[in-house]
Amino acid sequence: MQAFIGELIPAGTVDFSNELYMKIYFSGCDFKCPYCNTPDFLETKFEHVIDLKEVKRDMENQRGTVEGIFLTGGEPCFQKQALLELLRKAKELKLKTVLDTNGSKPGVIEALLKNELIDTIIMDLKAPFNETFEKVTKSATFFKQSQNIIEDTKQTLQALKAYDEKVEVIFRTTIVPGLIFRKEDFLKISKEIEDVNAAWELQPFRSGMVADKKMQNINSPTDSFLENLRDSIKKEIPSTNIRINR
Ligand code: SF4
Repeated sequence: MQAFIGELIPAGTVDFSNELYMKIYFSGCDFKCPYCNTPDFLETKFEHVIDLKEVKRDMENQRGTVEGIFLTGGEPCFQKQALLELLRKAKELKLKTVLDTNGSKPGVIEALLKNELIDTIIMDLKAPFNETFEKVTKSATFFKQSQNIIEDTKQTLQALKAYDEKVEVIFRTTIVPGLIFRKEDFLKISKEIEDVNAAWELQPFRSGMVADKKMQNINSPTDSFLENLRDSIKKEIPSTNIRINR
């Protein structure tokens, strides 16, 4: 089988573990977040086509060097069959499996959870489920309204809630100056996830190569801004398992 994979790093560092992981960047994404820092992987391109036999061979070669595979993108859930094939191979090799997703494909995520193919899921929760969601994700199309995408994302949250004792769940929200940075928005997000047994990471927008060139020179939020935001959320909702991911 072939798949659209923008980049494959055989053994790379990750921010959720001290171990090395094989990093697989799927190309193609249904969101167009202006601050996305993998803009080259937002569209599937002919030069991204790769035979999964090669990827599986790399996985065999890296066994013993890496702790597991980290599937990211783009949006990996866009290529369900390729995802299933790689995850099954990883399980066969007893490698840990970590999926990084925007949560817009609940059917795919439910199938992966049901088949016990995922050890850790990192889900981006980009914005509260109101008009801000579209501003932050630019995900609505002629065929799919923002409200439908929000409903799909909520369905993923329900699936995670059902499996949160079996799978490690991490939610992530990027703090983007001028876009998503108000305490009120974060309090709304925390309400959406309060029933799920998960950690919630706040991560700063990183300037540099991002999808919307107008955002390239915007400064990242400071450490003290992040800490103040975390503390004020924690003060209002003490049960929130919130942390900062620098
Ligand atoms: S940041 Fe947004 S646009 Fe970029 S890969 Fe993630 S979901 Fe897609």
